Amino acid sequence: MSAHLKAKTLKKAIDTGMVISLKGLALGLHHYEWSLGRDFFASFENQELIDAHLEVRVALEREVDRIMVESALQGSVVRSCDRCLGDVSIPILCNDKEVILLEPDQEELDLSQYLYDSVCVNLPFQTLHPSGECDPVMMQKLAELSVN
Ligand SMILES: [Zn+2]
Repeated sequence: MSAHLKAKTLKKAIDTGMVISLKGLALGLHHYEWSLGRDFFASFENQELIDAHLEVRVALEREVDRIMVESALQGSVVRSCDRCLGDVSIPILCNDKEVILLEPDQEELDLSQYLYDSVCVNLPFQTLHPSGECDPVMMQKLAELSVN
């Protein structure tokens, strides 16, 4: 069962090109770039993100038994406003650094989960339009509902 799940996750990552084959990967620095859109987040069954436009740059530094991952994410994601339910564009700009220890027989490194987590931890707890910029029609409707 778990092997099946793992295979499924891996296939998804190959589709988006985020599985790095370690077999031919020389020691030293390697650079990668990806664009993450709505499909990437939909593949994680994330219903909260309506849209996404993110550019990702990753520098991998391979050593014998570990890999240093440095990632830079830039762009925006769209979520629903917690007040009026309208679309809110949330700018994302973050840099992360992590050391991943490699198993002796490890052949691949899947970065999709790592990048997904990097985006999610940088999202604000609440999604709200700036004060006064909520959809006035929707706010009127909500006000009427709360009176009744
Ligand atoms: Zn709003």
